Amino acid sequence: MEDEFAVRAEGLEKRYGEKRALAGFDLAARRGTVHGLLGPNGAGKTTAVRVLSTLLRFDGGRARVAGVDVAREPARVRGRIGLAGQYAAVDQVLTGRQNLEMFARLFHLDRRRARRRAAELLERFDLVEAADRGVGGYSGGMRRRLDLASSMILAPDVLFLDEPTTGLDPRGRGEVWEAVRALVAGGTTVLLTTQYLEEADRLASRITVIDRGRAIADDTPDGLKNRVGRDRVEVVVGDPADLPAALAAVARVADTVPECDETGRRVHAPVSDRVAALTEVARTLQDQRIGVEDIGLRRPSLDDVFLRLTGRPAESAESTGSTESPAEAAA
Ligand code: ATP
Repeated sequence: MEDEFAVRAEGLEKRYGEKRALAGFDLAARRGTVHGLLGPNGAGKTTAVRVLSTLLRFDGGRARVAGVDVAREPARVRGRIGLAGQYAAVDQVLTGRQNLEMFARLFHLDRRRARRRAAELLERFDLVEAADRGVGGYSGGMRRRLDLASSMILAPDVLFLDEPTTGLDPRGRGEVWEAVRALVAGGTTVLLTTQYLEEADRLASRITVIDRGRAIADDTPDGLKNRVGRDRVEVVVGDPADLPAALAAVARVADTVPECDETGRRVHAPVSDRVAALTEVARTLQDQRIGVEDIGLRRPSLDDVFLRLTGRPAESAESTGSTESPAEAAA
């Protein structure tokens, strides 16, 4: 019987000297899905991906990828996987097409098949128009898509994507998301590491949260968000005297009684229909001529997840500098 899980890790251990980068890590990613691995810098995401993709030996536990035991048959695993990530491996001087043809040749496709595969992938990743331009002139999103394409030359069963959108602007991020969705529609299983809750939410059908080398939650995006709290509408009034009006306006659209913070000017509350709620609050306050300093939607961030699950903020400062990812900010 075929394994229902394309990636399965049980009690994985990886030490660097005294440091336990993986400390009994478990994960099970169902075939044909995107499985998110969410955690801040240093949580162990890259180590997990490197172990599962056979680039790094591990010290304990068991792992199977695409039905093959990682410790016993690493070469067979390598034949069934692809790996792409933050640092695009593509050559800047060559064109997109030349890059893909070069990779295909490295994978021992003959010239004719290499050309055909490159053309298919350019089509699949929406790079046909840019195919014959030098990669040096590509946008960040195009470069990552080309990187994804190059990891798909042999149509792997499982693709490991290590933070594929870090450093991209919202548009590039959206382009990569589209490409990932297309891959999964074609039957590939994707294990996606990310620091963005929103990214895991948009793409993954299940999310494992990793902290200090161990899975601390494994849930659907909705399950995770329900534990963490939903989207909130936030209003900041210019004059504290307007606070009661703001509270009333937010209360009309909120799921629970709105709260205000210690500044006496900020009101917030969870809402179900985020856009309708925001529009309604803005209209009400405008009708009443209330001076609004700021109004917006706040989505739960990785930091909120960590705070709720562990009782402390995510450890890495650089991963949590903002409560919104760039894509959210632009939404
Ligand atoms: P990032 O988002 O920065 O890639 P990560 O979640 O992928 O973070 P890892 O890179 O897997 O985290 O690192 C997990 C832990 O292991 C960190 O504390 C890191 O400092 C440590 N570590 C990683 N690689 C090594 C190494 N080669 N030698 C020593 N310690 C390491």
